[in-house]
Amino acid sequence: MVAMKLLMLAGGCWVSVLLVCSSMADQPDSLSAGLLPVGDGALEEFRARATRFGNVVTLPAYETSVAEVRSSLERTLAEANAGLDRIGQGRTGEVTFAGTLGALDETLWRANATAGRLALVKETSPDAGVREAATEALKAYQEWAVALEYREDVYGAVRAYAATRPVLAGEEEKLLAEVLRDYRRAGLALPRADRDEVERWRKELARLGTDYESHVTKAQQALRFSRAELAGVPESFLERPGIKTGADEYTIQVNVTWQYLTVLENAELEGVRQRVLVEHHRLAKEANLPLLGQILGLRHAIARRLGYASWADYQIEVKMARDAATAMGFLRELQAGLEGKFRSEVEEFRRLKVAATGDAGARVELWDWRYFANQLKKSKYSVDAEQLRVFFPYQRVLEGMFSIYQRIFGVRFARVEPPHRWVAEVQLYAVSDAATGEPLGLFYLDMFPREGKYHHFAVFPVIEGKRLRDGSYQRPVVALVCNFPPPSPGQPSLLSHQDVETLFHEFGHAMHNMLTRAAFARFAGSNVPRDFVEAPSQMLEHWVWDKRVLDSFAADYREPTRKIPPEILAQLKAAKFATYGCHYRRQLSFGLMDLALHTRVTEADSGVALELANRTLSEVFLAQPEGAALVAYFGHLVGYDAGYYGYAWADAIAADLATVFEQAPDGYFDVGVGQRLRAEIYAVGDSRDATVSIEKFLGRGRSLEPFLRKIGAGAPGG
Ligand SMILES: [Zn+2]
Repeated sequence: MVAMKLLMLAGGCWVSVLLVCSSMADQPDSLSAGLLPVGDGALEEFRARATRFGNVVTLPAYETSVAEVRSSLERTLAEANAGLDRIGQGRTGEVTFAGTLGALDETLWRANATAGRLALVKETSPDAGVREAATEALKAYQEWAVALEYREDVYGAVRAYAATRPVLAGEEEKLLAEVLRDYRRAGLALPRADRDEVERWRKELARLGTDYESHVTKAQQALRFSRAELAGVPESFLERPGIKTGADEYTIQVNVTWQYLTVLENAELEGVRQRVLVEHHRLAKEANLPLLGQILGLRHAIARRLGYASWADYQIEVKMARDAATAMGFLRELQAGLEGKFRSEVEEFRRLKVAATGDAGARVELWDWRYFANQLKKSKYSVDAEQLRVFFPYQRVLEGMFSIYQRIFGVRFARVEPPHRWVAEVQLYAVSDAATGEPLGLFYLDMFPREGKYHHFAVFPVIEGKRLRDGSYQRPVVALVCNFPPPSPGQPSLLSHQDVETLFHEFGHAMHNMLTRAAFARFAGSNVPRDFVEAPSQMLEHWVWDKRVLDSFAADYREPTRKIPPEILAQLKAAKFATYGCHYRRQLSFGLMDLALHTRVTEADSGVALELANRTLSEVFLAQPEGAALVAYFGHLVGYDAGYYGYAWADAIAADLATVFEQAPDGYFDVGVGQRLRAEIYAVGDSRDATVSIEKFLGRGRSLEPFLRKIGAGAPGG
């Protein structure tokens, strides 16, 4: 229950960072897209209005010192334990839904609010000591969360309630069934000694997982190059503070994804690309390889003890796919379908490399494909991704996206003054229903990199939605933590088209949380099966490929009447299609590696993990270099374990969902379809089966066809 939830918090999506920007204040303060200005009383007005709708709006007090972090944790655990004690005592008296499952949902929701907040503090606090304290607190919290599932008294109360054979329906029925399933999965149905052992293993696993993650976060490697060595890398990148570190010295942090990718995509010298990639693929190797073996061994042991063939079967039981074989079958089907397209793409890169090097025997290596894919975009499709940045100044993109989401979801955003901001540039927005004015939630934006901050893009649930005992509804609070390129002197933050896609994606997660109507926190917001949670956001990525959508905000910041020329968008689409084979085969290589590790590595042979991982990656995509250990720097190993397949799985659903907008009268702006999306998918969360929600939105059964067509894969079996 809580243990899984907490691990999910660090999930989210990928990319990376550095540096605090000073010129945030230069950006326009007022937003055009129907937004209210910041007002002193705006937050108070929002709160008062919420009360009239029977909603509760709260903002948490963020911990800003080591002492506060520690006392928050202590207080939270003490309160949660007291709550559990009360539930546990219930089994001797009369057991009710409210006294067992209802109280459990509320107790965990309260505890989770602290964990969610501390997870945000851990990733965003400007104070290294506070981040460290939050990391420690979360470790302790996870251990507590694992242990709480073993509380016999609470289990006894739930079982006693189930034994009354209550007649439940809908969300309540689902809650009872899933809580009982949780207890079975935690081993409570096992003999005492086995159960105790599983509990010990899981605690150990949680500890190892946190260490592994922290090694990934802390891993750093800087490489220094001369300007000549970085030939081909854009000027704007090289001139950034932090990159240019000497008269003819440029420093690349290979652990900072945007720096790493810029070099791989642009550096003309193969040796430079190779060095950067090889160092990247060794990040955290020494620290994490020993942990990897222990983690996989423990996972296998736990799964077997609980009666599952593998950790993958155990993990996938609660997802849409239901078991490892189904997930594996799905990936293999895509892998086969993409074989022709993938081979022809690599062949085209090989011809480019032969032409560039004059070496007829040249092979396409792992450090080559991004470079030649980029070259291909520039030559064949005349797309220079860097040149597109002028159309995407951050503030315009943000306002444009706000405007679209406000329209399709029927909501309004208003910027309000946060009572606390962890760094100066943090912003807070209040979300209301457009038709009724009902306050729906609040979201923070922390959008630019800085030292010690989370390296990727993710939404952190700070307070989850929930119907409270008195009938009022606690509206959610989330934080969007991103790492867009910071503004530089004389130039605003300019996003790549991919950054724009990421923003539309991440903000989709924020909306998923914000629009919830689920009664129980367990089912609220984006607490849906992990192989579904990305689908609505991946669907929203389709928006940034639509001319009408882009024209509604994208314009050259130096000459705002200049829109993206239609031929460039067409070329960009063609260029994206041109590398779907590589994109998905690479993704499938991670998905298959992940399933291989979690179906084939046992506690007895955990030493094979590295070799198995590298072999799978090399077979499905391009050969891993000598000494590579990407599996030691694989953030998805903890929290998304046996779940990477979910990206492609959800992508297939996303393509299916997008067809509804594509066929609607107003396309991606269609208000009617948007309302249906809000009602059938976002508002219900996990309060009913995901497949039911998807089919209600689609108005038909699911289909893989739109996805296969989109990526140029052959029909199944073809
Ligand atoms: Zn995502």
